[in-house]
Amino acid sequence: MDIVVVGAGISGLSTAYYLRRLLPEAGVTVVEASDRVGGKIRSERVNGYLIEAGCNGFLDSKPHILELCEHLGVSQELMRANESSARRFIYADGKLRELPTSLREFIYSDVVSWRAKLRMMLEVFTPPTDAEDETIASFAQRHLGEEALRRLIAPMVSGVFAGDAYKLSLRSTFPVMAELERLGGGSLIRGMLRRRKRGSGGPFGPGGVLTSFPEGMEYLPRKLAEVLGSSVLTRRKAESVERRGREYVVDLGSRGSIACDAVVLACPAYAAGKLVWGLSRALAEELGSIHYTKLAVVAFGYDKSELGQELDGFGFLVPHEEGRTILGCLWDSSMFEHRAPEGKALLRMMVGGARAESLAELEDTKLVEACRSDLKHIMGIEGEPELVRIYRYRKAIAQYNLGHQERLRRIDRLLERFPGLMLTGSAYRGVGVNDCVRQARECATELTRLLVREAPSPP
Ligand SMILES: Cc1cc2nc3c(=O)[nH]c(=O)nc-3n(C[C@H](O)[C@H](O)[C@H](O)COP(=O)(O)OP(=O)(O)OC[C@H]3O[C@@H](n4cnc5c(N)ncnc54)[C@H](O)[C@@H]3O)c2cc1C
Repeated sequence: MDIVVVGAGISGLSTAYYLRRLLPEAGVTVVEASDRVGGKIRSERVNGYLIEAGCNGFLDSKPHILELCEHLGVSQELMRANESSARRFIYADGKLRELPTSLREFIYSDVVSWRAKLRMMLEVFTPPTDAEDETIASFAQRHLGEEALRRLIAPMVSGVFAGDAYKLSLRSTFPVMAELERLGGGSLIRGMLRRRKRGSGGPFGPGGVLTSFPEGMEYLPRKLAEVLGSSVLTRRKAESVERRGREYVVDLGSRGSIACDAVVLACPAYAAGKLVWGLSRALAEELGSIHYTKLAVVAFGYDKSELGQELDGFGFLVPHEEGRTILGCLWDSSMFEHRAPEGKALLRMMVGGARAESLAELEDTKLVEACRSDLKHIMGIEGEPELVRIYRYRKAIAQYNLGHQERLRRIDRLLERFPGLMLTGSAYRGVGVNDCVRQARECATELTRLLVREAPSPP
């Protein structure tokens, strides 16, 4: 039994890993277009700094990566963010304001006006809705009011998804919120209290601590690739997937082709769409229509003396209405140990995203100038960074816009015609790395069931 997995990001590697565990007798080959594994997970060491080009970590409140680490025997390598990373800030009306972490802090905080606080407290009277889905913005407006949406929710959505709260589907991005609303008969507060009564989690949901590895997040895909050994082939770009009788053939252009019983497309949806064009145009079009945002990640390394302050926290977000270039800034060296050499600090800014895509395409000098100007304005940092690094993504993060659930249902129906052809990855049911690993495991389990059912019984 032969299986080809296309893409050696965290999704493809963990799918291959779980297939190996579930179907030890199967031949699993991972083909990766680039010369490295990890995809959007990439950790770079430059002059003593450890810089994440993409993914920064995962929350330890979900079990998926923790379980994978246990299976791989690397749980002792996990590194939790410093306690101070619980301190998060928002830049509003010309000032950095600390986000409250309790009701008491919320009452005394200055993140929103008194009017907005009163409006937020009226949440408990939110009537139930019969809408099957809605945008995050419409949900937040109904529950918390306009000011909370603009100042707190929309920037958080930009920070997590580089997305637009006015377009993203609530059910696809925050299914827990939809569930709480249902549980509370309309009100999230009532839903949280009921859930607490049932003993399933605290009032603010799963929470969790940001977690990574001393060598950065790339440690995980590298470890998976090490375990998978010679079955991971880099510099092998899949050009198409064809069907020959019951078999699939993955064409690798000048590098030949591989015939197999099943194919897992763990590459981004737009790449998967191109691969299946010859199999089903309708499927190719559905996959190609999942939008990805443009994003630039700009890392600055500073001598601490240039900062004029002690970095103590996770970083800050900037609401769109503030008219700045950056979506937010992560204080990496405050969050995790050893991200910068002694006496230095590492900051990382995000630029672009769904509400300001063109900014991600600013040429290098303009991008660096804009980031420096924002840091000066927001944090008062005048000095020059001793290290500058820019990572650009033409297609960074899949956007689960309104209609995503229906699109997934159509994709599932189209896939029924191709038993053994599977899709997994961040384009479908969760963009975070924990969700990628969960989907990979589910994909491997489903494929195993299918292949075992279809395999001829032993004589
Ligand atoms: C800037 C940024 C910051 C992020 N921060 C976080 C974070 O802090 N926490 C978090 O949980 N998530 C974060 N994410 C999201 C998370 O990193 C991604 O969703 C996840 O890594 C995607 O993994 P994947 O394997 O599905 O896809 P990818 O990482 O995109 O991997 C797909 C792979 O497929 C390969 N490929 C494509 N086409 C072909 C082909 N034709 N043939 C062969 N190979 C092909 C690609 O080269 C790539 O290696 C972040 C994302 C970005 C962009």
